[in-house]
Amino acid sequence: MNYATIKSYDVANGPGVRVSLFVSGCTHHCKGCFNAETWDFNYGQPFTPEVEQQIIDYLKPWYIRGFSLLGGEPFEPANQAALLGLMRRIKKECPEKTVWCYTGYDYEKDILAGQLGDWDITRELLSHIDVLVDGEFHQEEKDLSLRFKGSRNQRIIDVKASAIADEVVLWDANNEAEN
Ligand code: SF4
Repeated sequence: MNYATIKSYDVANGPGVRVSLFVSGCTHHCKGCFNAETWDFNYGQPFTPEVEQQIIDYLKPWYIRGFSLLGGEPFEPANQAALLGLMRRIKKECPEKTVWCYTGYDYEKDILAGQLGDWDITRELLSHIDVLVDGEFHQEEKDLSLRFKGSRNQRIIDVKASAIADEVVLWDANNEAEN
């Protein structure tokens, strides 16, 4: 897997100050994509063990609320295995940090339906995610006033609450301190 960018101080992609990773590779090709250079799976730099360690180190300070995973497309089958290794480390070494993930795929139709490669990998990857922002970017529904998402069709899903309820539960900004 390649990655495009790492931000060590990101306040735009989830609550609080976060570390964010923008992976390379995306097959959605949304019109008006903010990050079209990352569609190419070969864009950017190789995601090496040293890069993974750098992310863990960036996550350690007390003022970092969590980790945000963006792209590109984290749930592309070609990206999932490398990200699973990182997610396991984050949950083990930084368990107090929350994980947000942005995907162009649909939570139920694509991810839960097991349409994205090896289901065992997808399932475990999902288990490490606290909040999932799902859906392709729709330029005609773009709204700059939206918080943490680009177009109105996208949803901010509380993954843990959804698993317990067995239906989609949207993230509640009133519980922001938990995420
Ligand atoms: S899913 Fe995201 S990165 Fe991929 S084309 Fe759509 S907006 Fe761009």
